[in-house]
Amino acid sequence: MVEINKLSKKYNKNEILKNISLSINKGEVTAVVGPNGSGKTTLIKSILGLVKLNSGSVEVDGINIKNNFTYKNNIGYVPQVARYPENLTGNEILSLVKELRTNYEFSSQKIIESFKLSEELNKPFKNLSGGTKQKVSILIALAFNPKIIILDEPTAGLDPVSSSYFKDLILEEKEKKKTIILTSHIMSEIQELADEIIFLLDGEIKFKGTITSLLEESKESKLERAIAQLMLRE
Ligand code: ADP
Repeated sequence: MVEINKLSKKYNKNEILKNISLSINKGEVTAVVGPNGSGKTTLIKSILGLVKLNSGSVEVDGINIKNNFTYKNNIGYVPQVARYPENLTGNEILSLVKELRTNYEFSSQKIIESFKLSEELNKPFKNLSGGTKQKVSILIALAFNPKIIILDEPTAGLDPVSSSYFKDLILEEKEKKKTIILTSHIMSEIQELADEIIFLLDGEIKFKGTITSLLEESKESKLERAIAQLMLRE
């Protein structure tokens, strides 16, 4: 579903992503893990077309994203920090996004009920708590039934009940054959959700495979220890 070929990205003279090639499969949850500053967000932004690549290509659903904007209609993105017009309410933001998006199936009721958002959607975005902003951001990303869901540390700031509901939601989306890309520092979350792990270090892929294969390769029983081993190997 997402094919990245020899991607390099520099900020000034710093090479942040170094000749990365990888495939991300449909119907799977792919977790991108790695220490702070390893390039996870830059990789996500490259798929979203939010950064200019220095070399290499990104294809989404068989289409090279360079100079192409329509593919973004198929993506739901939850950024690390949600930024929406602060004075608008959640409901107003949803209406705005409806006007901008094309070809969508809109379904928000279940998420609104489970996250208990109906009152909150009437308040200006700036007045919401951090966790509620995150829930509204998840709602906006998922309500439009996107084929590809990209989540940058989605549960940071969510309480345990909401976090648990969020994980159920992602597993349901996976059942619907969505392509899901997730970054997280929470190993239990990755263990519950991910089919495939990509471990990034200093802009290079140091491991790509299933959790089982990572545990086997590292001879560890816990994911956290296996990842720590990858970090210490360098
Ligand atoms: P991660 O998501 O793994 O924490 P990032 O992709 O955010 O890592 O950042 C990787 C590196 O790129 C960091 O050293 C960061 O400082 C640098 N970087 C990110 N965005 C920019 C930018 N807009 N300009 C300059 N450097 C940046």
